[in-house]
Amino acid sequence: MTIAPARQHALESSPAAPVIEVEDLKKHFPVKKGLLRRTVGQVLALDGVSFAIPRGETLGLVGESGCGKSTLARTVLRLIEPTAGAIKVGGRDITHLRKRELRPYRREMQIIFQDPFSSLNPRMSAGDIVGEPLQIHGMAPQQRRQRVAELFELVGLAPAQMASFPHQFSGGQRQRICIARALALDPKLIVADEPVSALDVSIRAQVINLMMDLQRQKHLSYLFIAHDLAVVEHISRRIAVMYLGKIVEYADKNTLFLEPLHPYTEALLSAVPVPNPKLKREKRILRGDVPSPMHPPPGCPFHTRCPYVEPRCRVEVPQLREVRPGHWVSCHLR
Ligand code: SF4
Repeated sequence: MTIAPARQHALESSPAAPVIEVEDLKKHFPVKKGLLRRTVGQVLALDGVSFAIPRGETLGLVGESGCGKSTLARTVLRLIEPTAGAIKVGGRDITHLRKRELRPYRREMQIIFQDPFSSLNPRMSAGDIVGEPLQIHGMAPQQRRQRVAELFELVGLAPAQMASFPHQFSGGQRQRICIARALALDPKLIVADEPVSALDVSIRAQVINLMMDLQRQKHLSYLFIAHDLAVVEHISRRIAVMYLGKIVEYADKNTLFLEPLHPYTEALLSAVPVPNPKLKREKRILRGDVPSPMHPPPGCPFHTRCPYVEPRCRVEVPQLREVRPGHWVSCHLR
């Protein structure tokens, strides 16, 4: 079955009601040049992305740098405005809501950034950083202190550290501060944009385990973004693979790891270490770089790097199709 992007319903088959649904989302940035700042082109950062995340689940989103993951993270939260498409939170279309109308929805969706050091204000104490969203929403100081102490305990930090400043914490602890801050307003969805990429490998597992524990306790949903499939494997129920602003494959985690269908997913998977040396994966090196989203290749956007490219791949855009229940792929050969 081929689905026209505009009609393509968010890719989800779980019976649980989605916390967020994104339909055919596009974000095109104008490229301006010259003294008169004339628009000379468009960067197609997001080019028709659809997905849904049910309550209490994690959607892993992977792809190389420059494929549009971070733009997607900011666009679904309306930190940047979409060019087209729809964002629904709890069934309500928030795509065109004004700042004031958007406020209650902002409480429900929080973001964690990649670098915990640069995302924390060095002049504020950790307690003030975590309590800032509560202050903005008018919580009284006494109540706020108590809530911040609870949040510190929740993420495995000692409340005695509330007066310390970001530089006095380790990288893993700083990311715990970011998580505590994101949890302050009791959100339903956390968009985690490469939350462990800046951390040492030994700390990554601790932060991911913490996020999974919090998910169980609070029934949180995550959009968990990474450039590496190994990072999203542990935490995700479903995984979407993104290339040049589009989702090229989407499936539940086990299906994607055992039976990847898109050549790009195969290449990303071949870089994931396999714990059992008898189960070796064939190494597939990706040729060249991701093409510029200002000049995406015609036909299949992956054809310039694909080992299976055929003549029609250079002219015909493959549609994202459900080739098996719950398994979607955009490739002419599948
Ligand atoms: Fe490769 Fe063609 Fe499939 Fe694109 S459509 S991934 S170029 S085989």
